[in-house]
Amino acid sequence: MLDWQGKGLSVMEMSHRSDEYVAIAEKAEQDLRDLLNVPNDYKVLFLQGGASQQFAEIPLNLLPEDGVADYIDTGIWSKKAIEEGRRYGNVNVAASAKPYDYFAIPGQNEWQLSKDAAYLHYASNETIGGLQFDWTPSVGDVPLVVDMSSDILSRPVDVSQFGLIYAGAQKNIGPSGLVVAIVRDDLLGRARSVCPTMLNYKIAADNGSMYNTPATYSWYLSGLVFEWLKEQGGVEAMEKRNRAKKDLLYKAIDASDFYTNPIAINARSWMNVPFRLADEKLDKPFLAGAEARGLLNLKGHRSVGGMRASIYNATGLDAVEALVAYMAEFEKEHG
Ligand SMILES: *Cc1c(COP(=O)(O)O)cnc(C)c1O
Repeated sequence: MLDWQGKGLSVMEMSHRSDEYVAIAEKAEQDLRDLLNVPNDYKVLFLQGGASQQFAEIPLNLLPEDGVADYIDTGIWSKKAIEEGRRYGNVNVAASAKPYDYFAIPGQNEWQLSKDAAYLHYASNETIGGLQFDWTPSVGDVPLVVDMSSDILSRPVDVSQFGLIYAGAQKNIGPSGLVVAIVRDDLLGRARSVCPTMLNYKIAADNGSMYNTPATYSWYLSGLVFEWLKEQGGVEAMEKRNRAKKDLLYKAIDASDFYTNPIAINARSWMNVPFRLADEKLDKPFLAGAEARGLLNLKGHRSVGGMRASIYNATGLDAVEALVAYMAEFEKEHG
């Protein structure tokens, strides 16, 4: 941290234009390209403002003033993208999980797609509701735009099916604030004239994500995570590990009458597992007991209640085993 490769300075102190830092940045990008098999006609951008900034950045870059964009509503994050998109143009909500209480994803046969949509936006994993696509929408020539903030790098993905993939870093990549965008070349250069320079994908791409000073340390740390992922065996190995983790947890929930998860089996998230206890009054003692065992952050989002276990790439199978053991113990005592 304080002495990078014996140079006597921290990466934090380096100029982002220095040979040392540019090498760090380029290696991080290449490792991410290797991990996701990113085709050559895509740019990988390291931007700022988190995933939420993309909710505005996407229409400013891709939605013509007289155009329309299709959005799929499967929960809180896709709804935020819809609300922000509406500030910039016509948004058609082609499908919503609302009629299913956000417990299932409407199949594509139920979608009301526009004729000439500028793009289709959806969130592959709804972090708060625990609802995840286990399929990729098929919309022909319409660019697919996906918010992969909470499941990127958790399993293999075919990048060539997408026009734009973006992900806030803080779940599976690195420190918060950074957002990674993988943009197909033909989508660059379409921004509206009012699009702020700092939000223009083409300007970011032409400047190697260094139009201004990038989030250098976050980029560096993300690169270390990419190195770690490669050492683990890449996204194929993560898929195996993540499958084992979620199988263990859902099996424990389904085997008990005390814990429940309401999500349709094919839409259950591998990364965020919400569950409820039989009696809400037991939530507090459950959380207190969990914390005493070092099982942290299990309280569900305030909008949903109950519990939520976020089991991102950084969480090992041993942690899920510890949680499942605690759940069984708690049920025995209180069930
Ligand atoms: C966390 C999250 C966001 C918001 O990310 P920020 O970086 O805080 O803006 C957006 N979408 C999804 C799916 C998320 O999980």
